[in-house]
Amino acid sequence: MTAAAKKELRAEVCHDLCVGTATCTQVAPKAFVLDQNRQAVFNENGDWEDVQLQEAADCCPMSAITVLRILPS
Ligand code: SF4
Repeated sequence: MTAAAKKELRAEVCHDLCVGTATCTQVAPKAFVLDQNRQAVFNENGDWEDVQLQEAADCCPMSAITVLRILPS
């Protein structure tokens, strides 16, 4: 059994920019889902890896995803 990768990043979706292409949900399906309004929503507790958040942000045609680094507490 391998330990889960430590998460150092999180993501935010700007709903003023998101147009519901679902690209992020295809690139990182454990991190993003579309809600009933076809707006992407970040699943903070999903089983995603940090690299997938950046991939999704890079693939978003509207640059609606911002990846943030979690500050150590
Ligand atoms: S890829 Fe961007 S525009 Fe498309 S659903 Fe995700 S956040 Fe919205």
